[in-house]
Amino acid sequence: MRVMSNAALSAIFERMADVMEILGEDRFRINSYRKVARVIGEMPTDVGVLLESGQLADTPGIGKSTLAKVEEFVRTGTITAHQELLARIPPSLLELLRIPGVGPKSVKTLYLDLRIRGIPELKQALDDSLVQTLPGFGEKKAAAIRRGIEFLEKASGRIRLDQAFAAAQLVIDYLRQLAGFERIQPAGSLRRCVETIGDVDILVCGGKATPPDAAADGQTPEQMIEFFTQAPFVERVLGAGGTKGSAIIRTQGPVVQVDVRVVPPESFGAALQYFSGSKAHNVRLREIAVKAGLKLNEYGLFEGQAMLAGAAEEEIYAKLGLDFIDPLLREDRGEIEEARKHTLPRLVRLADIRGDFHAHTTATDGSATIEEMAQAARERGYDYLGITDHSQSTVIANGQSPQRLARQIEQIHRINGRLKGITLLAGAEVDILADGTLDFEDELLADLDIVVASVHSALGAPRERVTMRTLKAMDNPYVTCIGHPTGRVIGHRDAMDLDLPAVIEHAARTGTALEVNADPSRLDLKDVHCKMAVEAGVKLALGTDAHGTGSLALMPFGVATAARGWATKGDVLNTLPLPRLRSWLKTKRP
Ligand SMILES: [Zn+2]
Ligand SMILES: [Zn+2]
Repeated sequence: MRVMSNAALSAIFERMADVMEILGEDRFRINSYRKVARVIGEMPTDVGVLLESGQLADTPGIGKSTLAKVEEFVRTGTITAHQELLARIPPSLLELLRIPGVGPKSVKTLYLDLRIRGIPELKQALDDSLVQTLPGFGEKKAAAIRRGIEFLEKASGRIRLDQAFAAAQLVIDYLRQLAGFERIQPAGSLRRCVETIGDVDILVCGGKATPPDAAADGQTPEQMIEFFTQAPFVERVLGAGGTKGSAIIRTQGPVVQVDVRVVPPESFGAALQYFSGSKAHNVRLREIAVKAGLKLNEYGLFEGQAMLAGAAEEEIYAKLGLDFIDPLLREDRGEIEEARKHTLPRLVRLADIRGDFHAHTTATDGSATIEEMAQAARERGYDYLGITDHSQSTVIANGQSPQRLARQIEQIHRINGRLKGITLLAGAEVDILADGTLDFEDELLADLDIVVASVHSALGAPRERVTMRTLKAMDNPYVTCIGHPTGRVIGHRDAMDLDLPAVIEHAARTGTALEVNADPSRLDLKDVHCKMAVEAGVKLALGTDAHGTGSLALMPFGVATAARGWATKGDVLNTLPLPRLRSWLKTKRP
């Protein structure tokens, strides 16, 4: 996931804009930093590559001073202007920006008027009814801030999957610089692609176990750990010694705890198995070992003193009488029983995906044109891409009127006429309105290839209401799938109080697919709900919800989530070749 360094750089520019806004600096400069953040965040190619080839200098929105900053970042990993800006405000102010609903403007007011520098002070000021009286705040906003703090505290300590991948990549790239690391492998919940990650575990295999070879490599485990703890991104060392180093590292996103362990090659598989978890899965494995008179730990599988397996994970599962279990399935959700019977599913993989079902363009709130999105999708090797811009009710996202959509459909057909190597599916992300009706008439929907129906408002309505709305939308013969069915945004917004068994049953009955939104802040449906859908025979539709060419790269998060829900290739709609997809799409229509 090399695109992540673009995300990191984009976050720096966004952060600089935030700080300038808190400092009350020039509006024009703030906006231009935000624009740079967006442009870089949406680039499909690594910024370092574009810089080297000189293409970056020609990119609209990237001026001379931005170019210099990007150069500095690529060279040194930091930007001086960014550091200088950070030095001008109390660091704890940035903590306030993490509260959902609190932007730089609010932070500025809180800081200047009430001298609030962090969350504890803000909570106190809320209790003292001081925040409510600030200009532009009021009771409603104060209540929203309070909810935001509660949410943050509930979610705190865990980071999103993409943030964890970025942190791991940072450490792995750094460790690679030192000779003698033969294998560097993330373990833990990151390897299992759990939707949020506590800390990042990395295993390294350090040279040979025998002293002569270790000397040839010139690195002892202690030296390797020392190399890690001295990395420029390490903020605080929590522990270092022997074969394990633990540190808090700075990333362009949140701070992350990373544990690095040096493991000898003969135990690498056992350690990888042990540290990948989950706990529940490992407890089951140990029970199986004990029943067979064996002992399983992070060093290997033993019979008395004799080591039966340890170098490779596969051997451990084999010696326990189990098929190899993909890390994505290791949750004790039935995978051990299936592995014993040799009936584990063959999980869907990224390579099976032939297209993306959910993408926005400049017609609504996307940052790339239809042609640019088509080209980026073709470069990913896709056969098709669904263009699904917003409908009229989503005013904030510049949703399209029926007239605009009708014109866009014609435009898509014209573009398809000259496109080679990829087909655009004319689609829309149609709002499901409060009463369960759709934002467009059936007549118009009939002209579309795919219809993603999504709820974007009144997510807090009672269970019957939100469930009824979704069920009714599925009754519409033109609705291909329900977009981000529960509406959750990880770390920001809870899921709707949806009756998921009812939704899944109705999806099966009406032949409607359910989306697995691949955006790592959504992952919606989530893994366990994917599993319920798969078991009910409901097709999953994977979509990145891309708002630019760069976010088409989020598909692996959707695939991992579906696979964690035991989805095979056959369960995922967009693994179908186009002709078969077209006939599937016709099945529900009158
Ligand atoms: Zn949406
Ligand atoms: Zn969308």
